[in-house]
Order: sequence, then C-alpha cells, then structure tokens
Amino acid sequence: MKNLYCAIDLGGTKINIGIMTKDGEVLDNIKIPTEVEKGPENALNNIKNTIYELLNRLNLKKEDLKGIGIGSPGPLDSERGVIIESANLKGWKNVEVVKALSEDFKDIPIKLENDGNAAALGEYLFGFGKNSRNFIYITVSTGVGGGAIIDGKLQRGANSNAFEVGHTIISINGPKCNCGNNGCLEAFASGTAIERIAEEKLLQGNESLISQIKGEGKLKAEHVFEAAKKGDKLALEIVENEGYYLGIGLFNIIALYNPEKISIGGGVSNCLDMFYDKMISTINSMSLKPSREICEIKKAQREDCGLVGAGALAFYE
Ligand SMILES: [Zn+2]
Repeated sequence: MKNLYCAIDLGGTKINIGIMTKDGEVLDNIKIPTEVEKGPENALNNIKNTIYELLNRLNLKKEDLKGIGIGSPGPLDSERGVIIESANLKGWKNVEVVKALSEDFKDIPIKLENDGNAAALGEYLFGFGKNSRNFIYITVSTGVGGGAIIDGKLQRGANSNAFEVGHTIISINGPKCNCGNNGCLEAFASGTAIERIAEEKLLQGNESLISQIKGEGKLKAEHVFEAAKKGDKLALEIVENEGYYLGIGLFNIIALYNPEKISIGGGVSNCLDMFYDKMISTINSMSLKPSREICEIKKAQREDCGLVGAGALAFYE
C-alpha cells in the first residue's frame, strides 16, 4: 500500500495524466491527445487506459492510489462531478466524468474541479505560493484564468466557478470578448488579444518585423515577442500594452483580495520579463498602497501546476 495520487489535467488539445506523491513529486506522466471531436467517451476510455499503463510502468496496483483528481475547463459541477459544457471541449455536454472513472476505480475518492482552481492549488502547495495564506494564480495564454486561495482555502464559489478573472470587465467600451461581453481583461491581455491587436495594426499598414517573422502562417503571440526582442517599434508597443492591461487586471485582484503573493503562469508568462516593469509601474501608479506593497508578484514556479494541482484535489480540503 502506497500513498499515491492520480492527477489528470484535461485540456482542449491534450490530457496530461500523472502519478504523484503528496509532496507534489510526479513519479511518471503521459500526455495524450484529447481528440475532442471523437467525443467524451473516447477520451474517458483513453484516460482509463493511460492510468493502467502508468500503474504498470511504476509497478503499482490500483490499491496504491489514494485518490484521483481532475482539472478540467468549465463550467462544471464539482459536487456532481460533471462537466456541464465548455468552449474548449466543443460538443461535450453534461459529461459525468467522476461516474465514468469510478466504474473502474471503485472505492477511490475522485474529485473534479475547474482547471484554473486546480492550477492555483498546485502553485500554492508546491510552487511560489508555498508558505503563504493568501495567494492568487493567474494564467495568461489563449485566455486568462486562474484561482484564489484565501486564508488557506481554495475559493470555489457557489458552484465551482469563482475567480473568472479573465471576464472581469476593465473597459466597458473595450473589444468584444469570446464570452460575449465587451472589454474583459481577456480581450485585452490574453495571447489571443496580443495576436488580434498585432493583426489590426498590420492591417492599418504599420511597418513591422512581425510580418516577416510570421511569414505566410497565422500570426502568433510568440511572433510579436520575437520582434520586440529585436527592437521592433510596433511589437514593443504591443508588449508594453500587455504590461499595462495586465497591471490593471492585477490591481483589481489586489484591491479585492489583498493577497501576499500572485504568480503568473501560462504561455505568455514565458516573456514576463519583457513587460514586468510596465505591469508593476501600472500597479504602483494606483491607490491602496498598503495592499500593493505587501504583494509579491512573480512568474509561476511549477510549469506543471495544472497537473500537480489536479492530483492535490484528491487530498486537499
Ligand atoms: Zn469575457
């Protein structure tokens, strides 16, 4: 009998499945494609088979697992263990994830949680959030999401959908967001927003290295950062803009939660050093000095916080 946990980080393109200890050490993990279009049943079967493969590779038995935790895009119902629907899992409706897994893994506690909350828990327990009581994780990639731990407790809200920070509105007349509203933080500061802004500027006839770097393909946020590194004026402006809007988003979080630490993860955070100063100076230009001054803001330390946080759901109360 070993005290191990199975962690499942379910995403729109891939699923990362691992076996981990209570200290956040991942003993082994396998990534498989989600194949959203083949439906949830196919994905759930692949998840089960991968868990068996991992147990096999590690020479473990089912009984060595003390719990299974799943982080998934929402909205979902964590009480019932059901993914209600998701923009990232097109066509999946009312998927009974916990019930499906418990057919194979009877008597093992199985928890389902919003992926932003799971990642926040992972970074809180095993990353930059360690030794704090009030911690915020935000992820900036295709979208903007995250989670909050306040007084040592994960903030789930009434039905597990708390902390939709990407859809807090920072300018009522701002650009249209994927969610249907206007001016959400996500519409200003996500990787997708960086791409949209760059495309608009290029269409207006602005000269920029971005066009050469992207070539014939689709414009990506990475292209903008690459051009900025080479000193391209337009790219530098867009990156500065990223720091400004993220700074406003973070100020709102600081005003609401008074956290000791905030960490920033997701693809865009790989270039955090390029807009960190603008982000911090934006925050520092605002009010609420005591809350601002106590808050430390850094890049996330655990790139796999989505995975280890999912596993931690199984033992964290
Ligand atoms: Zn939105």
